[in-house]
Amino acid sequence: MPATADRSSLNWPTILFIAATSLATILWPVYAWFFGVTWAEVALALGWYLASAMAITVGYHRLVAHRAFECRPWFKLALLVAGSAAWQGSALSWTSDHLRHHAWTDQDRDPYNIRRGFWYAHVGWLFTKQGMTGELPTHLAEDRMLAWQDRWYIPLAITTGFVLPWAICGAGGLLLAGVVRLVAVHHGTWFVNSWAHLGRRRPWNPAVSAADSWLVALVTFGEGWHNYHHAFPGDYRAGVERTQFDPSKWLIWSLSKLGVAWNLQRVGFSTRWRRSVHSLLNWEGETSEKLARVRELQLRLHRQMVRSRSRALKTLGRVSELPLPANLSAAAITLALETRGRDLRDKLGRPARRRMDRLARLSGRLATLESLSDMLADWQPLPAAA
Ligand SMILES: [Zn+2]
Ligand SMILES: [Zn+2]
Repeated sequence: MPATADRSSLNWPTILFIAATSLATILWPVYAWFFGVTWAEVALALGWYLASAMAITVGYHRLVAHRAFECRPWFKLALLVAGSAAWQGSALSWTSDHLRHHAWTDQDRDPYNIRRGFWYAHVGWLFTKQGMTGELPTHLAEDRMLAWQDRWYIPLAITTGFVLPWAICGAGGLLLAGVVRLVAVHHGTWFVNSWAHLGRRRPWNPAVSAADSWLVALVTFGEGWHNYHHAFPGDYRAGVERTQFDPSKWLIWSLSKLGVAWNLQRVGFSTRWRRSVHSLLNWEGETSEKLARVRELQLRLHRQMVRSRSRALKTLGRVSELPLPANLSAAAITLALETRGRDLRDKLGRPARRRMDRLARLSGRLATLESLSDMLADWQPLPAAA
């Protein structure tokens, strides 16, 4: 692929749109100085930012591109309409680029390949993009709602992105909730392709450039845990740890409790830890860095073991009829469950039985963590060639 695009391949409508909206955003303080800003305009801009950015994360990305969950048609329609306000193309065109990004990450065929530099991955790639760039999987190509949004994308984007803010709050609304908000959403999403492909924090798979960034997670409502996402793209969560800010995950989970969303895809506990250990051990990185990462992962595994053990202890305390093993290893819990658990099971009420099942699950987790930890402890860096 040529490093510089020839003039005829430039996508002028996109370039002019980005230039005009950026310029209007830079000049917005001048407008605000002369005409003032109302609280209604600020509230509308924040609401529009939330709706359009979340529609990209939850709708375009997790629902359409990765099929990480299913939902009621009215909710999908709402996401597609709100997503149009973000001016990032139709969900079909967005997905076509995004699936190539996952299939060819960091290679020439990656549409926002970070190896071509921060600015190229951030926005430059859009300057040469001509229409839909890749094949779509059949289930998407045949989806009538997606085809409808693709066909009416420009009128939808104009209406939701500009006409509605103008109708609600006049010229001030058009500028702040329309244009300035739109530029903010653009950069938020673009940071996932640029900033979140440059960091060092790659806890799940060090072989890919995708890295974790809390800042990107903050502005995109959860997409910043990008290393996990590249390691497990089908998972409906990007921030898999409890403390990671991922409101899109919380929304999808809440909707599943209300019956609006279902079939939420999750990568199981053992699978994700096992794969992260294997990705690291197979990684052909520099020895000193690999050693540092092995130590780092050992520490994470250890913390996870402490957490699982304390949960198991708490559960054990509640099933008081079981003898409490002195050494709370996976084997000790399994032994306790097997020796006394079977006789107890029939005598116990349902809550206690649930606790015992939980305990069995926790001992399975602990066993996985213990064996992975041993595997890392056994790893030795190859001696340097003479
Ligand atoms: Zn990425
Ligand atoms: Zn993705």
